[in-house]
Amino acid sequence: MSLPVVAIVGRPNVGKSTLFNRLVGKKLALVDDTPGVTRDRRMGDARLGDLKFQIMDTAGLEDADPTSLAGRMRAMSEAAIRECDVVLFLIDARAGVLPLDEHFAEFIRKCERPVILVANKAEGKAGEGGLLDSYALGLGDPIALSAEHGEGTSDLYEALRDKLATVGKDMPDEEDAFDEAITGIDLDEEGNAIEDDPLRPLRVAIVGRPNAGKSTLINQLIGKERLLVGPEAGITRDSISVDWEWKGREIKLFDTAGMRRKARVQEKLEKLSVADGLRAVKFAEVVVVLLDATIPFEKQDLQITDLIIREGRSLVIGLNKWDLIEDRGAKFRELREEADRLLPQVKGVPLVTLSGLTGEGTSRLMDACLKAYDLWNIRISTGRLNRWFSGVIEHHPPPAVAGRRLKLRYITQAKARPPHFVVFCTRPDAVPESYRRYLINGLRETFEMPGVPIRLHMKSSG
Ligand code: GDP
Ligand code: GDP
Repeated sequence: MSLPVVAIVGRPNVGKSTLFNRLVGKKLALVDDTPGVTRDRRMGDARLGDLKFQIMDTAGLEDADPTSLAGRMRAMSEAAIRECDVVLFLIDARAGVLPLDEHFAEFIRKCERPVILVANKAEGKAGEGGLLDSYALGLGDPIALSAEHGEGTSDLYEALRDKLATVGKDMPDEEDAFDEAITGIDLDEEGNAIEDDPLRPLRVAIVGRPNAGKSTLINQLIGKERLLVGPEAGITRDSISVDWEWKGREIKLFDTAGMRRKARVQEKLEKLSVADGLRAVKFAEVVVVLLDATIPFEKQDLQITDLIIREGRSLVIGLNKWDLIEDRGAKFRELREEADRLLPQVKGVPLVTLSGLTGEGTSRLMDACLKAYDLWNIRISTGRLNRWFSGVIEHHPPPAVAGRRLKLRYITQAKARPPHFVVFCTRPDAVPESYRRYLINGLRETFEMPGVPIRLHMKSSG
C-alpha cells in the first residue's frame, strides 16, 4: 500500500528543512541560514499524530533563468508538486509575503493540487503581520506554525488530515511501514549497523571529493534527473538517499557531500556537510569511493578511504571518468599497484573502471558492490579456520619474545560485518603487530576476502 506523498515547497530559507526534520523526527536535512542550502529534494517517512505519509523536501521555488542553478531547482520543485498528493506551501511569517511568494502561489494554484498554506516562524508577535498578509495569496486560511519550536502542529495536523482524506489514499495502520525512516538504521554500541534483515535494502554510499562525478553516476544508475548535476563544485551538499532496485535487489543509495573544504563556503555549512558524509558512511554497508581517474588518490581520497576502513565498511573503489583515459591498460596497472601500496589494510580492494557520464562500467560497479557485501557478511567455520591455522602454527610460528615462546592455540570467527576473528594464545600482549598483520593477510588470501577490512583480536587462553 503506497503512502500519500506530501511535498514541502517554498522559497529558500522559509524553514522547509526544519519542518522536514520535525516531521521525520530525525536530523536529516541540512539546516542553515544560507539561502539555497537545500538544493535537492529528499524523501522521508513522516508522522504527525496518527497520520503517516511520505514527506518530500524540495529546493527553493525560485523564478530564474532555467539554465541556472536556481532555474533547475525550480524545475525540480515543479516536478515535486506534480508528483505529490498534498502541497505544504511555506512562507516566512516574519519576512511577510514577498513577490517571490506571490509568484509561486500563483503557480501552485494553477497546479490544482490540494495545498496547505503555512506561515512559518510564527512564534511570538513578530509573525502576526505576515500571517494576516498571507490570506491575500488566495490559498485559503494559513496555518500559523513554528517549525523550530513545534508550535501550531495540531493545526497542521487537522489541516493535513482533512486534505489527506480528500485525496482518498488508504492509510496503512501497520507500524511496519515506518520502521525505516530515510536513514533509520539502528546502530549497536560500536556504531555498526545492526544485523541483517533480508527485507531491508542494501545500503550503499557513494563518497568522494567534489567533482569526482558522484551525482552524474547516481543519475546514470537510477536513470532519472533526480539529483542536480553541474560544473559548480560541491553542488550536492548533504547526503541524500534514493531508493532503487538493481537486478531485483532493493538498494538505498546515499549520495554524500564532497569532503573538501571549499574556501568560499561558510565554515559551518561545510562542517555540517562533512559530518553528514561521515554519517552516510556509518549507515552504509558498502561504500564506493569514487575517484576521478585523471587525478586519483589525492590526500582527501585517502583520508576518506582510511575512515571507511576504520569504520569497518566494505569498500569498492570506482575509477571514474575512464572515458578520458587513453592508455587504459597501463593506467589500470599503475592504479592497481598504487592502491595496494597506499591501502595495505585492504589489499586487493576491488577497483572498477567506469564512466558515470557514458554509463560504461556502471553495472560492473554494482556487481562489485554486491560481491563486497557478501564478503563482508562471510562466516567461516571454526573447522576450516583451524585447518588453516594449524599449518600456520607449524610452519610460521610467532617469534619468541624475550626468549619465551608464544603459544597460539586456536582461532574462531566471532562476528561478521566486517569479519572479526579471535586468536586464543598464551600472551596476547606479546604478539608483535607484524605477526598480526601476517595472520590477517593469510586469512585474506586463504579465504578469498580481497579488500575486506578484517578485524583480528588476540585473547588469552590462560
Ligand atoms: P529552507 O531553506 O526552507 O530549507 O529553510 P531552513 O529549514 O534551512 O531554515 C532557514 C532558517 O530559518 C534556519 O536558520 C532555521 O533555524 C530558521 N527557522 C526555521 N523554522 C523556524 C521557526 O519556526 N522560527 C524561527 N524563528 N526560525 C525558524
Ligand atoms: P560530484 O561533485 O561528485 O557530484 O560531481 P558531478 O557529478 O557534479 O560531476 C562533476 C563534473 O564532472 C561534471 O562536469 C560532470 O559532467 C563531469 N563528469 C562526471 N562523471 C564523468 C565521467 O564519467 N566522465 C567525464 N568525462 N566527465 C564526468
